[in-house]
Amino acid sequence: MIKPIALSLILFFCLSQCTPKTKSRLNQNTQQITLNEPPMESTKNKVPLLTKTEEQWKAELTPQEYYVLREKGTEPAYTGQYTDHKAIGIYVCKGCNSELFRSNSKFDSHCGWPSFYECIDKSKITETIDWSHNMKRIEVTCSHCGGHLGHVFEDGPMDKTGLRYCINSISIGFKSIEKTDSI
Ligand SMILES: [Zn+2]
Repeated sequence: MIKPIALSLILFFCLSQCTPKTKSRLNQNTQQITLNEPPMESTKNKVPLLTKTEEQWKAELTPQEYYVLREKGTEPAYTGQYTDHKAIGIYVCKGCNSELFRSNSKFDSHCGWPSFYECIDKSKITETIDWSHNMKRIEVTCSHCGGHLGHVFEDGPMDKTGLRYCINSISIGFKSIEKTDSI
């Protein structure tokens, strides 16, 4: 009884690891497509839904916004407009206006960039291993437009999630909200 279950789990795991290979998945038979349904659901937001040409992005964003959002740059520490921002509201993606973080999840990390211990919804962001600068970090991008937001680290407040979403101010905008109970 145990063996078939174990084999099924191994098969499911292998298939779930292959989900980014969209083309090969589409060529698989009906049974395999059925098995792939849960991973397809969980990874569909990993693909940016909003696609624009580089020319369009350059026309819509300032050079500094383009550098951070589209070229994965980083704004200098302690220079962003939201590092010490305390207002109540929602932080949105500068590239597509997708709602990303609530002000009540923002905390003083003293790292020089706006920091949040959680995002509004995990589907709103995509986390990818980033090996740049001889470091292993987890990059955070907007799931809707693919814009680079920052990185997430495991040194956030332990009484919350333990995570620190370290986000460039220039990658986000802010929508003020009057009622605290509405966020
Ligand atoms: Zn976006």
